Amino acid sequence: MPNAHDVIVVGAGITGLAAATRVAAAGLDVLVLEARDRVGGRLLSIPARDGHHGVDLGASWFWGDEARVYELAHNLGLATHAQYTAGDALFQTGEGVQRLDGNPIDAPALRFRDGAQSLPLALATSLSSSIRFAEPVHGLRIVGDGDAAQVVVAHRGGTTHARCVVVAVPPALAVTDIVFEPALPIELARLAERTPIWMGTTTKVVAEYETPFWRRDGLAGSAISYTGPLREVHDLGGSGDQAAALFGFAMPTSEPLKHDAIIAQLVALFGQQAHAPLALHVTDWRTERWTSPAHVEQLGAYDTYSDPRYRNAIHERIWLASTETGPDHAGHIEGALAAAEVVGRAVCGLLGAQQ
Ligand SMILES: Cc1cc2nc3c(=O)[nH]c(=O)nc-3n(C[C@H](O)[C@H](O)[C@H](O)COP(=O)(O)OP(=O)(O)OC[C@H]3O[C@@H](n4cnc5c(N)ncnc54)[C@H](O)[C@@H]3O)c2cc1C
Repeated sequence: MPNAHDVIVVGAGITGLAAATRVAAAGLDVLVLEARDRVGGRLLSIPARDGHHGVDLGASWFWGDEARVYELAHNLGLATHAQYTAGDALFQTGEGVQRLDGNPIDAPALRFRDGAQSLPLALATSLSSSIRFAEPVHGLRIVGDGDAAQVVVAHRGGTTHARCVVVAVPPALAVTDIVFEPALPIELARLAERTPIWMGTTTKVVAEYETPFWRRDGLAGSAISYTGPLREVHDLGGSGDQAAALFGFAMPTSEPLKHDAIIAQLVALFGQQAHAPLALHVTDWRTERWTSPAHVEQLGAYDTYSDPRYRNAIHERIWLASTETGPDHAGHIEGALAAAEVVGRAVCGLLGAQQ
């Protein structure tokens, strides 16, 4: 069959790229179709002004018990550093700002020096010719029977055949955007429709500064606020005293966030030096077309995460896999790698490839 692959992976987020890497390493021919013009999905980083580290507009942290992330970062030679937590945290209420004794807000965590997107970017380097960008997939149709069955993948640029397909897109988005033929088993369709998109309703705010001036005042850069617009704030600087950033998650609101209100809050917390950030980035993940469907805020059934039904092949040829389906650490980068492990094993099993 011309124009055919062993495996098509839909989505070049960390789940899709980790799954593609696994099946390619087993000798299978894989094509990744990505809707955006970049890899990484919810892992999105930009270089800091001094070029010494990455600034995360999506995920930032990984934690001590997340062995898959550690191992992958190590194997890819990616530099990591500890989240800055030294100093005092702040607590803001309608009555003002209280300086806490120490920092009970930040748990110990690690970050990627060049930003969390360096992980998918590094995986993409070895898969490069197998990734096609600006190719949203909108249909999956199974043709033929038994061993001869194939999946016809309809995407922006046309149709491509594969022996099997991994849909590495958050399930609720996948079932909104992609027409399955034959239809998904009803139970799985209902499960996917109800599965929330981790952090898909979040607005992340990053304020970049020349220096981490709060550290010199003995502040950790972290705060919890009952007044907003940010409900929590953390240090997003590098390990040294170079260019720095603070980041926060906004309180849920249907109103667009006002930059003046964000700056006023940062000044109330960290003093006048917070008044003029070099840049202020506001990323509303609710409105990211290729992360969240329009009804993302109505999804609340977190008990659907890691559901074992996600491990079953759909009509023996198609799998749904994303951090939400991961058998452990669902929601985290670690959960995405766990999902990729499961689906990579299943694909290799079906196609008789040695892992
Ligand atoms: C603001 C924020 C903060 C976070 N903080 C952390 C953190 O600190 N630590 C942590 O571990 N996790 C964090 N997360 C979660 C983490 O980002 C995710 O667990 C992880 O990135 C999910 O990867 P994924 O590949 O499963 O999904 P995604 O990253 O969503 O990837 C899906 C991919 O599919 C593509 N796609 C979608 N539809 C189609 C289509 N029809 N056709 C083709 N391609 C398509 C998308 O463009 C995307 O590239 C955070 C997330 C956000 C948004």
